[in-house]
Amino acid sequence: MPEGVYHRTLKAVAEVVEGDIKDLFWDLVIYRCVLQKVIDALWELEEIPKKDQAHQMFYGMLRVYGFRAHVVRNIYNTAIALVKSAKSNEGSKPTVKKLFTRLDHQDAEVNLSNKTIKIILRDKQYTLRIKHRDGYIERFKSLKWKEVHIKYRNGKLYVSIVFKVRYTPYIPKGVVALDLNLRHVVSYDCPDIRRYKTRFIDALSKKARAEEIQKKYPKRWRYNKKILKRVKNLHRRSRNIVINWCRKFAKEITLKAKRHGYTIALEDLKKLRKSYNNKNDRVVWKLTMFAYRKLQESILSKAIEYNVPVVFVNPKKTSSTCPRCKSKIRYIGRFGICRKCGFRADRDVIGAINIWLKVLKAYAGVPGSPQRASAMKNEARQSGGTKNEGMKKTIKSY
Ligand SMILES: [Zn+2]
Repeated sequence: MPEGVYHRTLKAVAEVVEGDIKDLFWDLVIYRCVLQKVIDALWELEEIPKKDQAHQMFYGMLRVYGFRAHVVRNIYNTAIALVKSAKSNEGSKPTVKKLFTRLDHQDAEVNLSNKTIKIILRDKQYTLRIKHRDGYIERFKSLKWKEVHIKYRNGKLYVSIVFKVRYTPYIPKGVVALDLNLRHVVSYDCPDIRRYKTRFIDALSKKARAEEIQKKYPKRWRYNKKILKRVKNLHRRSRNIVINWCRKFAKEITLKAKRHGYTIALEDLKKLRKSYNNKNDRVVWKLTMFAYRKLQESILSKAIEYNVPVVFVNPKKTSSTCPRCKSKIRYIGRFGICRKCGFRADRDVIGAINIWLKVLKAYAGVPGSPQRASAMKNEARQSGGTKNEGMKKTIKSY
């Protein structure tokens, strides 16, 4: 992942401590209604107007609602962006469902030391208090904020504060490779192999049960309140299990990588091939992909926080090649054997070792060229002591 400026978001529930929550609610309702009006008007036009044309069309009308000049500009720009993207995707007219607004430095003032945000919506001022534990808020104190998002849902007020962070990953001294399956995440950082038990099977059983109910009542589940509630509940619990586990694991592995000066290596999600034959496998595949995506997101966000480098590896053949002699591995269940050199290990261990090897190769330069191959050995020796020898030892012992 390249260095540069990234965003990190503080998300929390908030309460109104100055001003009236009812007024705030109405401000958001009016914002939504006005944004929709502009979208409706734009949708009817043959061509999307340019910014100065849009300004002429909407400025006067929006000012009447009490929005200040820069907010007016935000409103029609947001509407133009939404309509443009819907038309280019040949989608239907966008409808604004959320009670939501986005504020910048002109309408908001963030003060993390007393956990408050002052905001102006139309002509009224409000002070919001962020409700979250101090330790969490502390992590954002040194950062510069860029935007504040306010959302009202089911009687609760939510804020997200977007911060800019500079990500400057260190130069790694080694690699920790991760291979994911539903039961375990296997890490390999030569010569150590570690298995972290996931909670994904638990999540899977909840998801499978929800899908079972949906299949049993193919039409009714959407309309019957009781069934719908049950289905939603199961999906939500499944999701939460995955998210919470991923967060916990991401923190652990990122801190470990930082302690050793390692880069974290993962399979590139975009290059993973679909692999399922029946419906049952499809549920497993869906959850695996979801879990993998969440794990990747969690690791990236932790990596940005701690300036830990992350690399993505093409997953092609990571579990089918022998890490020792490059022959094809044959599997009995999850257990793999190389007929040529006798190497044997679990599928996930083979995956993790191969990911690790791929990264090492990439660091050494162009893979496959013989001059580079010897350079790779030297580099590995320099950076991690007797890494290659350690590697051989590990391979023997499996
Ligand atoms: Zn082999």
